[in-house]
Amino acid sequence: MRYLSTRGNAPAQSFCDILLGGLAPDGGLYLPESYPQITRAELDAWRSLSYAELAFAILSKFVDDIPPADLKAICDKTYTAAVYCNARPGDDAAEITPVHWLEPGRLGLLELSNGPTLAFKDMAMQLLGNLFEYVLEKRGEEINILGATSGDTGSAAEYAMRGKHGVRVFMLSPHGRMSAFQRAQMYSLQDANIYNIAVRGMFDEAQDIVKAVSNDHAFKAQYKIGAVNSINWGRVAAQIVYYFKGYFAATKSNDEQVAFCVPSGNFGNICAGHIARMMGLPVAKLILATNENDVLDEFFRTGVYRPRGTAETHTTSSPSMDISKASNFERFVFDLVGRDGAKVRELWAKVDAGTSFDISATPFFAKLSEFGFVSGRNDHAGRLATIRLAWEKYRTMIDTHTADGLKVALEQAPAGVPTLVLETALPAKFEETIREALNRAPERPAKLEGIEALPQRVEVMDPDVAAVKAFIVAHVGH
Ligand SMILES: *Cc1c(COP(=O)(O)O)cnc(C)c1O
Repeated sequence: MRYLSTRGNAPAQSFCDILLGGLAPDGGLYLPESYPQITRAELDAWRSLSYAELAFAILSKFVDDIPPADLKAICDKTYTAAVYCNARPGDDAAEITPVHWLEPGRLGLLELSNGPTLAFKDMAMQLLGNLFEYVLEKRGEEINILGATSGDTGSAAEYAMRGKHGVRVFMLSPHGRMSAFQRAQMYSLQDANIYNIAVRGMFDEAQDIVKAVSNDHAFKAQYKIGAVNSINWGRVAAQIVYYFKGYFAATKSNDEQVAFCVPSGNFGNICAGHIARMMGLPVAKLILATNENDVLDEFFRTGVYRPRGTAETHTTSSPSMDISKASNFERFVFDLVGRDGAKVRELWAKVDAGTSFDISATPFFAKLSEFGFVSGRNDHAGRLATIRLAWEKYRTMIDTHTADGLKVALEQAPAGVPTLVLETALPAKFEETIREALNRAPERPAKLEGIEALPQRVEVMDPDVAAVKAFIVAHVGH
């Protein structure tokens, strides 16, 4: 399998070549040159596979430069019940991503948040940790991952990379601005290859430092600076697996269809659903849910893609969906415009210049529904109401992001097929809003009781690029 850039001007690459990198050299994102098509016989055979077996079957279609026995071992090591152990009492953690039915056979949660950091990002990031270690070892290379986080991504990356050979993580976070639980999750890690840096400032200032360091090409090359952000193809590929797993859990035969509703920010999660559907998974609808940052909902309703400025980007109670533009969206648009790199270049010339594009008057607009997409949005009041509804009607506590999904699913779920809302985090991560909605503390998996009391390891710094560089140099040591 070769990988092409969405902007059509970069040489084709193999899976391992793009695994450790970011954007293609022409500024685009990598996608497989074609989507593997799943036969009915394969789908029938896959129905009974364990999560790890299914992951191997699917990833084998996208990876041809890792020997199958090695890829199989990586999948087996990643997808274990011991790692994904935080399922609700009564749901089967051995399934890795069990379905929790709200209305049996009709409406359910696909539990994706049972990994170590209680968010769906663990599904792909844990695999990435093992793939990175494997590929770096083969190549005799190292990587120093530099990132900025306001919560979910940074902790998922740290828990995936902790103790991995050849990998160090330098993660910047805004000092004093994460919840006590989030701080404890990240800063209590004692692994020698994990460095937490709390920056005295806002998240944006931390992110600007990451950008400044990455734009220093000499420093980046000398200190082997890399990233694990949501455009990483390995993450998207790993996420395809649970759409198949959810489909099998919600149906009895491969003649049936399923709809998925996905709480969305950077379009990484739902992009994997789109690819699963393109591979031939019987998906009735892909329902995209946003919070007040509704740039994607606006696009799917109107055909206008209008990235927002900082002033128009809201801080919400589903913070992992607070985006101004959706970094994976270009992958879908490449398919939408018939894989025409020149067309993508034309559209993203506008995006990159800070303006919008409008496809409403083109034949592409009608194609949005051919690709199965519909969308909706939620806001803080709707989030509280949906958390209450789930608790009162279904005796199920859900987090704020999943609430955005459930709200939109209740409005848009097609009749006659099961709809699965992707549960992207557990309520324990968002205690404040759960208390506001339900007047009680969220349930917390037993393993995480009392983590706030563990010793923490964090370096507090001013938002200063030179100081962060010096810290990296001191700890990389060559
Ligand atoms: C990252 C995240 C999302 C958004 O996922 P995308 O792939 O960026 O669309 C939604 N919910 C939670 C809890 C997340 O951490």
